[in-house]
Amino acid sequence: MHNGHAEAVNSGTVPVVNSVVKGLIYLPSAKPASRVAESASRSDAPAGDNPAVAYARIDAPAAEECAWCGHRFDGADTRRPGRIRCARCGVATTSPWPNDEQLGDAYAVWYRPTEGRFSGVGDAVLKRTRSTLASRLQRILPAGPVLDVGAGDGTLIEAFRRNGRDATGVDPYANPDNPHVRAVDLEDMTGEYSAVIFWHSLEHLRRPVRALRHAAGLVAPGGMLIVAVPNATSMQARLFGDRWLALDLPRHLVHIDPPALLSQLEELGFRIERVSYLRGGQVLFGWLHGLVGRLPGHPDLYDTIRRSEARQAAQSPAFRLYALGAAVVALPVAAVGTAIEVARRAGGTVYVQARKEEKAG
Ligand SMILES: [Zn+2]
Repeated sequence: MHNGHAEAVNSGTVPVVNSVVKGLIYLPSAKPASRVAESASRSDAPAGDNPAVAYARIDAPAAEECAWCGHRFDGADTRRPGRIRCARCGVATTSPWPNDEQLGDAYAVWYRPTEGRFSGVGDAVLKRTRSTLASRLQRILPAGPVLDVGAGDGTLIEAFRRNGRDATGVDPYANPDNPHVRAVDLEDMTGEYSAVIFWHSLEHLRRPVRALRHAAGLVAPGGMLIVAVPNATSMQARLFGDRWLALDLPRHLVHIDPPALLSQLEELGFRIERVSYLRGGQVLFGWLHGLVGRLPGHPDLYDTIRRSEARQAAQSPAFRLYALGAAVVALPVAAVGTAIEVARRAGGTVYVQARKEEKAG
């Protein structure tokens, strides 16, 4: 509705295939709100198209400069569907570069329905993982409040508060009923924190380095920056390419190469204390998702495990069974892939703990 693509589809000038580009998000069939329940014409292979190629067709200008280092793109940079990898810093920038409206569409309600994203035990696992992270950080942080950037529904904040630590968050999509998560820009935040945490949020920001710089200023001497992001140069990213789980166009605006992140943190006066290619989570699932996505019909496993209201496309029970069965069969291969890439320090996510140097004298 917001651009030429959607209108073209609506007016029937594009053959009605099982994919629609609405705004900027790739919706294999349609949003839940407009979904026709169990339409007979819907294919059992809703994600047959290539999501990066589909995204690249949106009506927006190509990215002109690297969103990480500001380098003006020229012939030396590597162009792939939906992103351009900077020859100077190694970070890729989503291209075309979406406008605010297009990005808003990409975060439509299905991404974070109020009842939780995942079906069954998924949300419980998510909660448990945050709880483990909070307890671990609790042991290494100096006293003082923490700030969670991209706090979502506040699960991590709650975990800190249970441990008796003051915690607040910022998130543009904050639930107004949660007093601890504010819908403001990170750059509007002031104060002093024992840690600022970017848990899979840095890659969603338009100006990630500016955000890091601002966050660095909010950290007390001896405090920490904690960052977890997808590793865009991981084995799984290279292997699964346009269908890699964490490419997630256009919600991920930058696709980070770990050395660029580490050197940026050092430049901001932080000492790298720990780098893990496993702790950022989603490594095994990235493999599973990638392997299952290679099968006929390209099942989207991530979509399969979400609640039906949170899914990008409707999936028939038979197709879900096919995807889940494939995941079970692929599990040993995914486990081996995970072990290899983590051992080679090329895991699907990178997690960094960096401590702000105490000023001498
Ligand atoms: Zn760059």
